[in-house]
Amino acid sequence: MSVLASLTDTPSTTIPVARPFVGAEEEQAVIEVLRSGWVTQGPRVAEFEQKFSSYVGCKHAVGVSSCTTALHLALIALNIGAGDEVICPSLSFIATANSIAYVGATPVFGDIDLATYNLDPHCIEALITPRTKALLVVHQIGLPAEMNALAQIAQKHHLAIIEDAACAIGSEYAGHLIGAPVGTMACFSFHPRKVLTTGEGGMITTSDTAIAERLRRLRQHAMSLSDVARHNAKQVVTETYDEVGFNFRMTDMQAAIGITQLGRLDSFLARRRHLAARYTAALQHLPWMITPAVPANCRHNFQSYMVRLIGDHAKNRDAIMQQLLEKKISTRRAIMAIHRELPYRSPAWDRSLPHTNLATDTGLILPLFHQMTETEQDYIIESLQTIVL
Ligand SMILES: *Cc1c(COP(=O)(O)O)cnc(C)c1O
Repeated sequence: MSVLASLTDTPSTTIPVARPFVGAEEEQAVIEVLRSGWVTQGPRVAEFEQKFSSYVGCKHAVGVSSCTTALHLALIALNIGAGDEVICPSLSFIATANSIAYVGATPVFGDIDLATYNLDPHCIEALITPRTKALLVVHQIGLPAEMNALAQIAQKHHLAIIEDAACAIGSEYAGHLIGAPVGTMACFSFHPRKVLTTGEGGMITTSDTAIAERLRRLRQHAMSLSDVARHNAKQVVTETYDEVGFNFRMTDMQAAIGITQLGRLDSFLARRRHLAARYTAALQHLPWMITPAVPANCRHNFQSYMVRLIGDHAKNRDAIMQQLLEKKISTRRAIMAIHRELPYRSPAWDRSLPHTNLATDTGLILPLFHQMTETEQDYIIESLQTIVL
């Protein structure tokens, strides 16, 4: 459904930055679960996990309630806790650092490479101390981080890698999908702002069977038997609870939506890549912005399309956003910088993260979603090309 008939019209409703794509198949899948009598984590979660792990090419996938809870469990599964340090980018959604804080560890912020908005491998070694246990690497807005260089550093210093792949379903690095074993675990989000949604939800992939089994217990109060196993038992069974666990379960309603969305994923990716390429072709020569660059060994899923405003134009970011809003085009400021928020704020971080500061002050996220028509996109492009700076 287009909100725009021609380029000369202002749309009748504002073009959003993002919009989830769910259809009649998702509705039907939820109804079937509701009628089945099994609504929380059960057969549909198991099926979603199996399909997800074979899609990304990893031995195990463990469904959870969000990417935030996925990251939290991943850190516990590596026995990271009080007194430990974990290196992560500050240019990320705050959940990245919060997950480290939940286990009592300290996030140590590395600066980014301005070309990719991902952790700059060159800044990592200076941050490593005897307390450092892991790198929490983010594939920001879906562009894979420089994993070869980061994995070499991790190996040299005996650090684990957890991938915050919240935005990165379908993205590829060096010929494999994100989620295939590179880090010890990769954590995905199915929030509506991401490429594939289940309303809320998350997934952890790992090739380590012992870790997968521990994650499955931890998400369910550390219970030694799953609900399904108890339900199917032919004899009376007694479960035990051998550590402090959580209720981080995904529901079968969410999993049923996820299974349907996974079937649509290749079309989601193709559409996003097509629209992103149209943006880049039209906007790359504008003198006041930098369009996203994708390294040759990566494929981006374009969970978001972020440009950066150059020089003095960055100071006009809010005015540019306001002009676009008056033309009924929503935009968002760049990815946040976690070190500027109260729980993590310090003058030392502010001095040591110049690229992060620049990216968060100058980035602008443009609308990109599956249903966006080319007419709508042309209207956005023309509005940007004719903006009064
Ligand atoms: C969205 C996001 C999260 C949080 O995902 P939820 O599923 O909402 O918990 C974590 N990290 C990054 C980088 C994100 O973009």
